[in-house]
Amino acid sequence: MRKIIIAGNWKMHKTNEEAEKLARGLLEVVKPRDNVKMVLCPPFTALERVSKVIEGSFIELGAQNLFYEKEGAYTGEISPLMLKSVGCRYVIIGHSERRKYFKETDELINRKIRSAIQEGLIPIFCVGETLEERERGKAQVVVERQVREGLKDIDREGEVVIAYEPVWAIGTGRTATPETASQMHKFIRAIIGEIWGEVKAQEITILYGGSVKPENIDSLMSQDEIDGVLVGGASLDVNSFARIYNFQA
Ligand code: PEP
Repeated sequence: MRKIIIAGNWKMHKTNEEAEKLARGLLEVVKPRDNVKMVLCPPFTALERVSKVIEGSFIELGAQNLFYEKEGAYTGEISPLMLKSVGCRYVIIGHSERRKYFKETDELINRKIRSAIQEGLIPIFCVGETLEERERGKAQVVVERQVREGLKDIDREGEVVIAYEPVWAIGTGRTATPETASQMHKFIRAIIGEIWGEVKAQEITILYGGSVKPENIDSLMSQDEIDGVLVGGASLDVNSFARIYNFQA
């Protein structure tokens, strides 16, 4: 059975006090479910505070980015070791906002994924096409390139979670239909089969991300190909994220 993950990407939101309140609120209202993980990805500044709140609970911690070196003269960057030292188990890598605003390339993303795995973190590796690429009929070409380049020279033993996040659906209120998302997940799984073999392809968790809300979570999660979600806006509120975690499929 594939691991189901409901992950919240808080992006550049929440002061330490607000972050603590949100994490505490979730612990109060959410009951753990079998085989459904909850992962919170606060900004770097709030990682330690949230880590203390969720310690020993079913909720796990993730970061939103890392730099691939262990340490050194890289002003402003954060290493995998630092993330582990505050209790992170997951790290989002290659989010479309980092590709767009910080010019992250497939090559850089690949280095980050390799470094995360080497240090024992589980990358939540984001891929997805822009609206223009989809309209030109290039969605699969783009996603295939991102998957193959991002996972280049990584062996199948490393644990990776993939998040399919069509850029046109992120923060826009426009969600991919469950069928569109499912088709792309199937396509990604087939690529994983070619790279790492069928066993790994069937095991790997593939999340959907892009305007996931309490109103659409049930229909998304009713698709066999969708193994969970990466949620931005709707993860910033206790009740809405709790409802997403409590999806009915
Ligand atoms: C995201 O940032 O990964 C995301 C999917 O955002 P939103 O849910 O707000 O579209």
